[in-house]
Amino acid sequence: MPTQLCFASNNAHKLDEIRPLLPASIELLSLADIGCHEELPETQDTLEGNARQKAEYVRQHYGVACFADDTGLEVTALNGEPGVYSARYAGPQRRAEDNVAKLLHELRGAADRSARFRTVVALAGADGSVHEFAGEVAGRITETASGTGGFGYDPIFVPLEGDGRTFAGMSGTEKNRISHRARAVAGLLAFLNKE
Ligand code: IMP
Repeated sequence: MPTQLCFASNNAHKLDEIRPLLPASIELLSLADIGCHEELPETQDTLEGNARQKAEYVRQHYGVACFADDTGLEVTALNGEPGVYSARYAGPQRRAEDNVAKLLHELRGAADRSARFRTVVALAGADGSVHEFAGEVAGRITETASGTGGFGYDPIFVPLEGDGRTFAGMSGTEKNRISHRARAVAGLLAFLNKE
């Protein structure tokens, strides 16, 4: 198992979620820790492609083993949208409030409010290899936002396995028990344990 692993994301919420999932034997490095202060390229049209692109970019330019995640919210009534375009759903400014408002607007009156979060984690190893791990959680989109925790679409997503609260209404530990990201990271850890 590597002792140091960079997480290639500028999203502090994701870092906060992932940190408690990792064993003490892994030192998690942020982009700031490795001196990376640039916007990472994310120009692919799949979650797999974007996760891979970010992880490989950091390994190539900063010489560290690293992993990246890319996440999409796939809404059944919208044929899987916003999916890989979840961050820019309401425009290039990537504002969570605008994305949430647009999604609630698109789904007004919809009978089917089912959706799933899907995360792909790509690991770019020091040896030049790349491995992918996926995680998902099924749920539904609420009619109004609730909860103050989490980030992004969390205030309008209720996981099927929960007790009716949105992800934003849960603690970080509760979200990590069932979340798409925690499940993808579990795949990463199982792989690293075998290494
Ligand atoms: P990305 O993986 O950072 O590209 O995220 C895509 C979009 O999904 C962004 O708008 C994020 O805010 C949102 N997002 C990513 N992960 C989560 C999550 O765990 N909960 C809610 N929204 C998320």
